Amino acid sequence: MREVALNVLVSEIAACSACALASGRTATVPGEGLASAKLMLVGEAPGAREDREGRPFAGASGTLLNQLLDGAGLSRNDVFITNTVKCRPPDNRDPRADEIASCSTFLSRQIEAISPQVVATLGRHALAVFAPGAVIGEAHGAPYQGERQNLHSGVILFPLYHPAAALHNGKLRPTLEEDMRALAALLGAPARVGAGTATLYGTPQEGVRAEAGRGG
Ligand code: SF4
Repeated sequence: MREVALNVLVSEIAACSACALASGRTATVPGEGLASAKLMLVGEAPGAREDREGRPFAGASGTLLNQLLDGAGLSRNDVFITNTVKCRPPDNRDPRADEIASCSTFLSRQIEAISPQVVATLGRHALAVFAPGAVIGEAHGAPYQGERQNLHSGVILFPLYHPAAALHNGKLRPTLEEDMRALAALLGAPARVGAGTATLYGTPQEGVRAEAGRGG
């Protein structure tokens, strides 16, 4: 069952010390959302807020992501959200390639367990996991048609900018809104993305989502 597989992953991630990020974390951030989600969002790395709460996109980027989903007729409750690495890089630096590689087995197993129709990447680091040659400025907002890796052929790869990019550059927000609407149309919104079960995984608590920072 999806739920069993995801719970096993939560435990394995909590015990993981496969890369250097383990030494600086407060909490692991395995991801959260609907086990039967049709849409999986993959961000970059946890930030300070996420590291404290153990939840992805718990800060300002998460607030904007929620608004973008809502504005497109989607809902955070109907998707599964995770990151390329499950532990916070120090000082909010980018995750390194070796850290992403060390953590990739967890991401692959999450995708395998959830079996989504669409994997939407948030930002260039997440896109590079699946499409190393892609340029986000060209690929965003549409199903990716180029060479891919780490995804079954039946799963659609849909690149998006990271919400933090729109926090730093307000001109990107309309682009993100338009891209999210295109993603929703692909999924058949305004119908809810994940029909049926409403069991959420990896959500230890509801938190206030208003802190500045890049974290995902
Ligand atoms: S980032 Fe991933 S591979 Fe590295 S310690 Fe955390 S869970 Fe393990």
